[in-house]
Amino acid sequence: MGLLIYLEGKLVPEEQAKVSVFDHGLLYGDGVFEGIRAYNGKVFRLKEHIRRLYQSAQTIMLKIPVSPENLTAAILETLRANKLRDAYIRVVITRGKGDLGLDPRKCPKASYFVITSKIQLYPEELYEKGIDIITVATRRTNVEMLTPGVKSLNYLNNILAKIEGNNAGVSEALLLNQEGLVLECTGDNVFLVRGKEILTPPLYLGILAGITRQAVLELALRAGLTAGEVPFTRHDLFNADEVFLTGTAAEVIPVIRIDGRQVRKGIPGFYTKNLMILFRELARRDGTPIY
Ligand code: PMP
Repeated sequence: MGLLIYLEGKLVPEEQAKVSVFDHGLLYGDGVFEGIRAYNGKVFRLKEHIRRLYQSAQTIMLKIPVSPENLTAAILETLRANKLRDAYIRVVITRGKGDLGLDPRKCPKASYFVITSKIQLYPEELYEKGIDIITVATRRTNVEMLTPGVKSLNYLNNILAKIEGNNAGVSEALLLNQEGLVLECTGDNVFLVRGKEILTPPLYLGILAGITRQAVLELALRAGLTAGEVPFTRHDLFNADEVFLTGTAAEVIPVIRIDGRQVRKGIPGFYTKNLMILFRELARRDGTPIY
């Protein structure tokens, strides 16, 4: 049996979940989204994801046609309808149906839908062996153009970087800004470990405010590590003790090689391993109950 999708206020079978070819989400990438996960019958940091979604929408002047409370209820209802306890949740808000021009004023009502499905994990062996990443020639969209803090439907910047990573045969691609500072990967935030300190780029440089990134910063402090949000370069990454990525899909995943340079402390490094375990515990413990 196919999945049930929440579309415009009701649950419909996957085959009937259709959007218009005149939807500006499709025509112009005009919209915002969230990727959320449920573990063991609970949705991890749902409130934070909902907040980020409404913030993304606010910045692009998109009015979400449902309240945060009702959207939260819709997500939980969709999970229940699909009898899911462990899931990946995609919430999408688009500018809605308009004409062929790009003017959003021609789109009277935003569209929204919620997809819940079984989670597709990275193969477990990558968590043991670590992933190989490269920095790519494509630079991250500048904050003055379209801040990466907005999780918009316009992911071409990330997709171009992903294609470069694919062409090089690696699992993730790392994006820098115009000055060569490290920002983030195509779908993950990046951290380095140096001594008893973990560092990640600050939000003001123009990265997505990752929910997993925030959880790891909190866990690090509790694990007796100091945590800093500071700008750093590839040179700092090449000479770090450990490097790892964070994201809703990936959780905490170790990096073994960056641009051919082997990460110093090998895989998985002591602190990365600890944070992987602490994060998995936290994700399975905390969350909004589905049932
Ligand atoms: N950066 C980008 C560009 C992303 O798309 C994602 C995934 N949403 C992340 C970082 C990680 O964010 P989160 O931990 O909220 O999934």
